[in-house]
Amino acid sequence: MSKYLDMRLEGLTPYVPGEQPREKLIKLNTNESPYLPSVKVAEVVARQADNLNLYPDPDARELREALSCMLGVGAGNIFAGNGSDEILAFCFFAFCPNGAAFANITYRFYNVYAQLYNIDTEIVPLEKDFTLKPENYANLGKTIFIANPNAPTGIALTRKQIEEILLANRDNLVVIDEAYVHFGAETVVPLTESYDNLLVVGTFSKSRSLAGARLGYAVGSKSLIEDLNRIKFSFNPYNISRMAMAAGIHAALDTEYYNACITKIIATRTRSITELSKLGFESTESLANFIFTRHSKLCGETIYNRLRRYGILVRRWEQPLIGDYLRITVGNDAEMDALFAALSIIIGEAL
Ligand SMILES: *Cc1c(COP(=O)(O)O)cnc(C)c1O
Repeated sequence: MSKYLDMRLEGLTPYVPGEQPREKLIKLNTNESPYLPSVKVAEVVARQADNLNLYPDPDARELREALSCMLGVGAGNIFAGNGSDEILAFCFFAFCPNGAAFANITYRFYNVYAQLYNIDTEIVPLEKDFTLKPENYANLGKTIFIANPNAPTGIALTRKQIEEILLANRDNLVVIDEAYVHFGAETVVPLTESYDNLLVVGTFSKSRSLAGARLGYAVGSKSLIEDLNRIKFSFNPYNISRMAMAAGIHAALDTEYYNACITKIIATRTRSITELSKLGFESTESLANFIFTRHSKLCGETIYNRLRRYGILVRRWEQPLIGDYLRITVGNDAEMDALFAALSIIIGEAL
C-alpha cells in the first residue's frame, strides 16, 4: 500500500478471480465455455484491426440491436457493458442508496462491490439445502441482488418465484444476474416489460464463449437504462472495444451455433453428475455450466489439491458451509473423462 492510497480503501478485500494458469492444465475452474466462439467471430474481430485508429461507438447501437433480436426486447431497454461485472459495479454504485441485500452464499463480487462503494449490506442466509426462499426477500427496504441460477450452487429460482420477490419489492430495485440462465433456467427478461423495479443482467462470457472479449448487458425500463448511461458516460464512454463489439454482434445473432453448444454442455452436465455420484459425490441440482459437489468421505481441500497434481484445476472456497464443496466447470466430454479417471484414482487411494 502506498502512502497515497485513500484510507477508506485500506480495508477493502478485492475479488480473487479463479486462476488462469500458465502451464497446460485441464481448466474447470472459471466456468468458461469449452467450445470456441463461432467461426465468423474470428473473422469479424480480425476485420476490426483496420479500424483501431477510431473509437468504438459509445452508444453500442448495433450491438444493442443484435441483443434486441436475441432477447426479444427493444434496443432502448438494453445497456451494454464491459463484462457484466462492470454493470454490476454500476448497479452497486448507483442504485443502492439504502443498501444492498444478497445471499450468504452467492457470487462473491457482490460483497466486494458493496465494500468498494461503502454500501450497507443485509446478508440473507440460504436454506440448509442451498435453496433460496423468496419470502426472505420481503420488506428489506434494500436493493436486492440475486444470481439466477445462483453461483456457486447452480440452483435456480423459477420465474414465478422471482415475480413473488418483485411484487414484494415495488419500491426497491431487484437485480437478477442471469450469467448462467441459458443452461436450463427460466429467464425473467420478459418481466422487465411489466416490472419497472427489475433489472436483468447477462453476459457473453459463459453461454456465448466470449469470456475473453469482456461483454455484458442489462435489460430494464428505459429510465433504468438512462441511469446506467448516466454513470457510463461519467466514467468510460468507450467501455466496449471495437473487437468485443464485433464479436458480440455476431455472437448475439448466431443462436443456432450457441444453442448447439449449450445442448452439449447440458448433456455433459447430466452425465457428469451421474458419474460423480458413482464415485461417492453428491451434487446440487445445477442448472448452470458447472457442478457443485462434495464427496461423502473425502474433504474438499484434499480432492482439490490432488486433482491439481493430475493437472486438473477446479474451484473451491475456504468459506463456512461450503468448504468441502468443489465447483467444477462442465468441460467437454474428454476433459470430464479425464476428471473422472483422476478422481477414481484419488478416491481409490484414499479409502
Ligand atoms: C461469471 C459471472 C459474472 C461475470 O461475468 P462477466 O460478464 O465475465 O463480467 C457475473 N455474475 C456471475 C454470477 C458470474 O458467475
